[in-house]
Amino acid sequence: MKGEIENAKNDFIAAAKRAHTSGMQTGNGGNISVRVGNQELMAVKASGVSFGESATDTIAVTDLDGKIIEGNLKPTREIVLHSALYREFAHLGAVVHTHSPYSIAWSFTGRDIPLITKHAQLKMTCPVPVIDVETPEVTKDHLPMILDLLRNNPGIQAFVLKGHGIVATGNSAVLAEQLAELVEETAKICWLDAIGRNIGIIK
Ligand SMILES: [Zn+2]
Repeated sequence: MKGEIENAKNDFIAAAKRAHTSGMQTGNGGNISVRVGNQELMAVKASGVSFGESATDTIAVTDLDGKIIEGNLKPTREIVLHSALYREFAHLGAVVHTHSPYSIAWSFTGRDIPLITKHAQLKMTCPVPVIDVETPEVTKDHLPMILDLLRNNPGIQAFVLKGHGIVATGNSAVLAEQLAELVEETAKICWLDAIGRNIGIIK
């Protein structure tokens, strides 16, 4: 198991550094989790740690109930959603959550993010849904609504929590982070397109 924890942490760190360097996540917000091997365990960001400071000793290892298995770091409160996704989707390897500005701003429109670019159309099969959750974190009460949406639409690999941030999934944290970047890039281009139409230079 030791090797599996190490692999999960290395994947976490690579994704966290990438998200921090690219500006997908500033400050100490956001969250990443990685399933440890194919077990009911996850490596998850400890509370209050910045993505940029990620290191093996800033990552908590917990079971899917959030019980700490290794070390004494407190996992973030956003763990509820992550655990539920691992329980529901046995194949799922990682979840990346970022407070990325263009996607969050787009979420206030209440519209899904359309696949406006060729690249987005190539990589995603449906518009990125915006899910309205009124609390700062996803709670147990919201899970049935979110899991139903994902169960009924297997093409959805990423979604945006309204006024909060992107949640992207993948086989690894690095792949999930790249998907989150694509969501943010797409939202950014949607805004530029909207501005262009508003000032009349795009018809
Ligand atoms: Zn968040």
